[in-house]
Amino acid sequence: MVAVPPATDAHDGLPTRPDDPRIEVRRSARRKRTVTARVEGDKVVVLMPAGLRRAEERRLVTDMLAKLARSGKRRGSRSSDAELMTRSRELSRRWLDGSAAPTSVRWVPAMTTRWASCSPGSGEIRISETLRDVPAYVLDYVVVHELAHLVVPGGHPPEFWELVRRYPRTERAMGYLEAYSRVLRSGAGATGGGGPDSPGTSGALGGPDSPGGADGEGMDDLIESGD
Ligand SMILES: [Zn+2]
Repeated sequence: MVAVPPATDAHDGLPTRPDDPRIEVRRSARRKRTVTARVEGDKVVVLMPAGLRRAEERRLVTDMLAKLARSGKRRGSRSSDAELMTRSRELSRRWLDGSAAPTSVRWVPAMTTRWASCSPGSGEIRISETLRDVPAYVLDYVVVHELAHLVVPGGHPPEFWELVRRYPRTERAMGYLEAYSRVLRSGAGATGGGGPDSPGTSGALGGPDSPGGADGEGMDDLIESGD
């Protein structure tokens, strides 16, 4: 399979000017000097220390936009999708005896409240860009979780968890995600906040989830976010 990258443009539609309304500045009193920025859906969130003067904030935002543009990470890039696919194959081989064979694994904008979703029928897996910055073991868990859905259809029965737990850092990753969803929710509702999810049942972060999975198509996973 030859991957033919679609002709994309240099402009990906994200904000380029500091006064663009799609730029959200989050100020934190705990932050000292660090300034970071990330893309969430079609907006750019810039985190910086509280108490700066407006002109200074504006300068920092301009700097961050330039950095984002240079890094090429403004949006899920092709190469990242390819990396995600490669990593998924490795994880399937390592923990699931290669039983899961996804047809595509890609990053999707953080427009939904889920961490990830998959379509068992077509073998497609989608991972939210919200997870771009989480530790590798957390992302690996999310991928293994989705891969397991391709092998054990129908929600999260015990066999499903048995498979997922072959990945040794499952519990730890679930704890991380639970805490992370709380952080995201308190962070000015970036992703459109919702309620916390289920109290940790065995299904962890979310609990059993998806509604019946009756249709088998487009199952939004449960690891999903807290909201
Ligand atoms: Zn799930």
